[in-house]
Amino acid sequence: SDFEPTDVHEGLRVTLTILNHKIKKNRVEVIEHWAEELPKLAASPGELNQVWTNVIDNALDAMEENGGTLRLSTEVVGEFIVVKISDTGKGIPKEIQDRIFEPFFTTKDVGKGTGLGLETVQQIMDKHNGRIKLESKPGLTTFEFCIPIHHQ
Ligand code: ADP
Ligand code: MG
Repeated sequence: SDFEPTDVHEGLRVTLTILNHKIKKNRVEVIEHWAEELPKLAASPGELNQVWTNVIDNALDAMEENGGTLRLSTEVVGEFIVVKISDTGKGIPKEIQDRIFEPFFTTKDVGKGTGLGLETVQQIMDKHNGRIKLESKPGLTTFEFCIPIHHQ
């Protein structure tokens, strides 16, 4: 497979750099809580960057009206790395929380969203045996990723 030792912090930093223009434009403050020492993850680094990009891009969209705070955290929990990405945006209504991972599901205007971002996230997490947990209410949405450090 295309798995190799992957530095999650570096991937998150690269993603923030790529999205920096949108972060500034949407008046978003970024707060980072990095684990002091994070073991390298057996992963496909490019695909993981796609996950962080798609999720953070959605978070920034959710805060485009009023600005807000993007929180990123990493921690080691047993044999897993846990990455949490939260935003203080409009939130995801309960009725659609089950549907957002479906291909082509979008609430965005034509041309603004393809509805493929989270479907890709789900596929990549499946490939890494990772789990996704979503918690959302208006003003606080958190996507939590729990990824095994060693792949089997
Ligand atoms: P797209 O961004 O193209 O609409 P995605 O698959 O990335 O497609 O996301 C699907 C939908 O999930 C979005 O249209 C939006 O309604 C919802 N969503 C995802 N993340 C967030 C978030 N952080 N806050 C609010 N809504 C979100
Ligand atoms: Mg998206």
